[in-house]
Amino acid sequence: MTILTPTSNTGAANAGLPDEALLNRMASEFFALVPGAAQAAAQFLPGFSEAGSAPVASVSAPGRLSSVSESGNHSGSNAGAALTQPSTQPSIYASAIPQNGGSSVAPSRPQAGGAPLSTPAASTTPYYFIGADNGYPVADGNLDGLAAQGTGRQADQTLARSFGLPGQDQLQQLLGELYPANTQAAPAAGADADARPAYYFQQGEQDYWDTAPRAANPALAAPFDINAVRRDFPILAERVNGKQLVWFDNAATTQKPQSVIDRLSYFYEHENSNIHRAAHELAARATDAYEGARSKVAKFLGAASVDEIIFVRGATEAINLVANTFGKKFIGAVDEIIVSQLEHHANIVPWQQLAAEKGAVIRVIPVDDSGQIILDEYRKLLNSKTRLVAVTQVSNALGTITPVQEIIALAHSAGARVLIDGAQAVSHLRVNVQALDADFYVFSGHKVFGPTGIGVVYGKKALLDQLPPWQGGGNMIADVTFERTQYQPAPARFEAGTGNIADAVGLGAAIDYVERLGLENIALYEHALLEYATHGLKSIPGVRLIGTAHEKASVASFVLEGYQTEEVGKALNEEGIAVRSGHHCAQPILRRFGVEATVRPSFAFYNTCEEIDRLLAVVRRLANQKRN
Ligand code: PLP
Repeated sequence: MTILTPTSNTGAANAGLPDEALLNRMASEFFALVPGAAQAAAQFLPGFSEAGSAPVASVSAPGRLSSVSESGNHSGSNAGAALTQPSTQPSIYASAIPQNGGSSVAPSRPQAGGAPLSTPAASTTPYYFIGADNGYPVADGNLDGLAAQGTGRQADQTLARSFGLPGQDQLQQLLGELYPANTQAAPAAGADADARPAYYFQQGEQDYWDTAPRAANPALAAPFDINAVRRDFPILAERVNGKQLVWFDNAATTQKPQSVIDRLSYFYEHENSNIHRAAHELAARATDAYEGARSKVAKFLGAASVDEIIFVRGATEAINLVANTFGKKFIGAVDEIIVSQLEHHANIVPWQQLAAEKGAVIRVIPVDDSGQIILDEYRKLLNSKTRLVAVTQVSNALGTITPVQEIIALAHSAGARVLIDGAQAVSHLRVNVQALDADFYVFSGHKVFGPTGIGVVYGKKALLDQLPPWQGGGNMIADVTFERTQYQPAPARFEAGTGNIADAVGLGAAIDYVERLGLENIALYEHALLEYATHGLKSIPGVRLIGTAHEKASVASFVLEGYQTEEVGKALNEEGIAVRSGHHCAQPILRRFGVEATVRPSFAFYNTCEEIDRLLAVVRRLANQKRN
């Protein structure tokens, strides 16, 4: 086995497609600044309101785009249904986080007759992060009494819809129409960074995080009722060391809403059985619930068919499955596997094991000083021997959002297949595997508000059909004699034995929850949280941020001069604040930045600026103690 490590850490930073939150801000600020842009915007933004002056895109009720004038008045058609009111205080703060003296708040129980478990409205926009409605069957049977799973929403509210934001090309075109001279200076994706134009959203990565925190901007208020959302998560009312818990360890695992907890109980109370095997009522209920969850996952990922969804234990097992099926069949001696420097150990070790067995070569895409993949270096690594590119969509250690669309397209043009590790992406970004054209996409349920012990491999059906099974046993066979076995087609071929039925069903409930809030809303809110935290941390002497890419999601890794990361983690824990300190199972990328460990607060949509303030106060106190 040969491992070729990166030799270059320089080069142009990625100039790929910005994330959803970034697009929101780009559009909002652009249209707020450009006189007369509203007319042009109407061409590109479905539902864009030309009424009023310089609208700032905002979500006034879950899933509904309205506009808020600069004075903060809602001018959209849904103003009456608004759950979020602009206020002088950043409404990203939870105004009434329960302080209940140690006992849990009463969890929000499902209400009979509430919101149906329907799927989000179909989208007609072409953007990859906006899933199309592919009309999957949703066979989530036996959910009477679980109809209204809490999200802090009213039963009759419309589900999340796309913001209909333009892509980078369209913004560029729009800019070109309005300011032809400026646009000429704008480099295409991947072009020389020195030729950057003056548009703020194309400024240098380091500069980007220097801007003032946007939490103070009412247009970036939580696009959902943050207090109601928090009440959906009973554990958030826990007290740790006498303080209310602050859960900033979301990259390690996320907390579970009551609806997921209830769904698991309901399964064991009313549906528990093995699946697919018996002709009795409970087997039918359990099978319906399990296959219903598969449908939800397929729709969530934008897969073409439920047959492309394989349930496994988590992202780690998912990657091992691909290594042991696709890898064993299609990767041989001197073939090459490309990973990036950002990878979690789960997306390194299985490939090393395969390479050791087969005599294959692992090549590593370097990142720049901001922690972004260097596409030019990646291009140089691709060649006719490349069989697989396995990269993360969001780095767990740095938060970098990688340009997976470009990575996949480039790999395909070299004839290679691509596995995307979505473990850190699916809870923050809208994913559409068909639009991305990913060959494999994997994630873990527990990182997207679902149970532990359940995860997913998405694989293109035509590809899965060519793969051998990984494990043998029951469920995955069509016929067995002592001489030979005929296997089931995908996905059953890859699900030997009794799977984690209940937790798959729980994952389905978690997806329902996330879809009700709307991934676009989540991305918008979390980006504001990240900006707030980043700005706060940067203002503390002795703090060094690790990972400052322009496109980031919900992770603010840092080290504090004069302190071990465990000391910072311990001091935070004393205040009830849970962060991860250590190597985050991503040692190569931390070493790229000259550190062995970082403190890693990581955010979810139930976090608030008030909680970030509590973290900042501890870090500031530690920094001051060292200096005095
Ligand atoms: N990939 C990434 C990017 C991760 O962050 C993680 C877990 O932190 C994994 C893979 C492995 O996930 P799991 O431990 O749930 O299998």
